Amino acid sequence: MLDLTYDTPKPKVIAGAKQDWELVIGLEVHAQVASNAKLFSGASTQFGAEPNSNVAFVDAGMPGMLPVINEGCVALAVKTGLGLQAEINLYSAFDRKNYFYPDLPQGYQISQLYHPIVGEGEVLVDMAPGIARKVRIERIHLEQDAGKSIHDMDPHMSFVDLNRTGVALMEIVSRPDIRGPEEAAAYVGKLRQILRYLGTCDGNMQNGNLRADVNVSICQPGAYEKYQETQDFSHLGTRCEIKNMNSMRFIQAAIDVEARRQIAIVEAGGEVVQETRLYDPDKNETRSMRSKEEAHDYRYFPCPDLLPLEIEQDWVDEIKASLPELPDAKRARFMADFGLSEYDASVLTAEVQNAAYFEETAEGVDGKLAANWVINELFGRLKKDDDKDISESPVSPDQLRGIIALISSDAISGKIAKDLFEIVYTEGGDPAKIVEERGMKQVTDTGAIEAAVDEIIANNPDQVAKAKENPKLAGWFVGQVMKATAGKANPKAVNQIVAQKLSG
Ligand code: ADP
Ligand code: MG
Repeated sequence: MLDLTYDTPKPKVIAGAKQDWELVIGLEVHAQVASNAKLFSGASTQFGAEPNSNVAFVDAGMPGMLPVINEGCVALAVKTGLGLQAEINLYSAFDRKNYFYPDLPQGYQISQLYHPIVGEGEVLVDMAPGIARKVRIERIHLEQDAGKSIHDMDPHMSFVDLNRTGVALMEIVSRPDIRGPEEAAAYVGKLRQILRYLGTCDGNMQNGNLRADVNVSICQPGAYEKYQETQDFSHLGTRCEIKNMNSMRFIQAAIDVEARRQIAIVEAGGEVVQETRLYDPDKNETRSMRSKEEAHDYRYFPCPDLLPLEIEQDWVDEIKASLPELPDAKRARFMADFGLSEYDASVLTAEVQNAAYFEETAEGVDGKLAANWVINELFGRLKKDDDKDISESPVSPDQLRGIIALISSDAISGKIAKDLFEIVYTEGGDPAKIVEERGMKQVTDTGAIEAAVDEIIANNPDQVAKAKENPKLAGWFVGQVMKATAGKANPKAVNQIVAQKLSG
């Protein structure tokens, strides 16, 4: 495993205040379960479908309809828990959270308040190479998503789309272990990466697949340590919850302005009121949505339509055995097996498809060279090409490996390799054949190189005189030879011969 140092929390201190304040942040991440059907009905979860086309009677809250648990969603929640090193609760149960909202036709949300399916776990958040921070997970529960009210389509009417009603969500609740805006974004990023590796959530924040409620409080230095020792929340400041954030950038900005708002209140002698707030990116401010006094009484009670959910340890073990290699383990293996830096290994393992592409490419060739080509040439080229995904790469791992093998065997120079890559990228074909057919082979025949060097020396007596005084100018001759040979001369041989002739 990767040798991580857990850095002592370096909490974010807000500058410009009268005194030092630290941040304390806890996140409730809502991750849509990657299931084709809803949590309690067979209706489709397809994104972007015609409004109200994916609605079963039970989703619409029709009288007499009964929810039936989707076993696939339960399996994915268990898998997620296992991927976060969490406790799996063999006994869990569903509760009704009662409230009225037009996009909630049942009049309640089915959730798991008292007995969540997943208990305590952890996420290692990468802050810098070799430095990870541990964020504790408190619980993960399964619940239904609500529908969508649409207020901007008509001046007089609001509309409701129930396609999302009843879609399965995993609510992943962290402990307040996050100490700054960057760390909060890194935490969401790592969580998203793990979920995508597991295949339990698509993690598409734009589509609302992954959203976070961000809880923020401020405290004086030392207070958080007391909380850590005792787990007593009274050492912490009063928190505000910023609802429904679906962009990493906004999460960071919202935490920052919210912390400043709280500091200003406290330093002016006031008190932070616990409330739910919304972030407005246009004004870069948070606004009160509802305070604790007017907070809902949800009248939670066990859902009488559903039996408690009891699962077998054998089934959990089966799911455990099916877990894929996760990001930290893959990164450590890439470093050990291919001699990669932690940075390169992190880039290659950011997305599981990229890691698979790299691994196939690196088979039987130099790992570092392969990493270099995948990261710098291929990723760079895909980015320029309309930000294409690795799955759309016109160059296959086989083809890229072919190019790398030609470099390693000195058949082509690094420069020619770039030309060759461009040909393969735009025209396709077998790299070795292209090199053969288009005469791109490197000139390693020292006789031919010597002849080219001699000619350039003979034609440029002034440059020769200068280069004799300043050996650094030899580079000019190397450049001329490369030009004369259309980049095909072996650069190592050219360097040697130029140095030898100039000193002679
Ligand atoms: P609720 O369900 O009412 O929102 P929870 O106790 O479940 O309350 O906490 C929700 C989130 O708030 C958790 O992620 C938790 O870590 C975080 N949290 C609790 N106390 C604080 C605090 N003082 N500062 C920041 N975050 C906090
Ligand atoms: Mg909450």
